[in-house]
Amino acid sequence: MTVRTLAMEPMRHLDEPHVSQVPVIPADASPALHEGLRRRRVAATLGRCPCGATRPAMTAIQHASAEQGGTVWRPFPHTADCPAHDDPLGAALAAWQNRK
Ligand SMILES: [Zn+2]
Repeated sequence: MTVRTLAMEPMRHLDEPHVSQVPVIPADASPALHEGLRRRRVAATLGRCPCGATRPAMTAIQHASAEQGGTVWRPFPHTADCPAHDDPLGAALAAWQNRK
């Protein structure tokens, strides 16, 4: 079985001198997948999500890694009812990936 994957693209932060890899919204995304990915893109760009979550500050080690071109993992603490939270977005993504 082939599982579809999301295309990713770099997006510059407006609040920091860094870039995040963010998912491209597929043309055939369900409304739940579209909104969840749209919010992730907004959050990556602005540093805050409409649910109120803000980008966590980098630790000294994360900052040093970023300055040397390394990858830093800083997940947003989306609220449980935010469409960008891992639970609803993960379910919407799985449905999209397995759609035939
Ligand atoms: Zn959110």
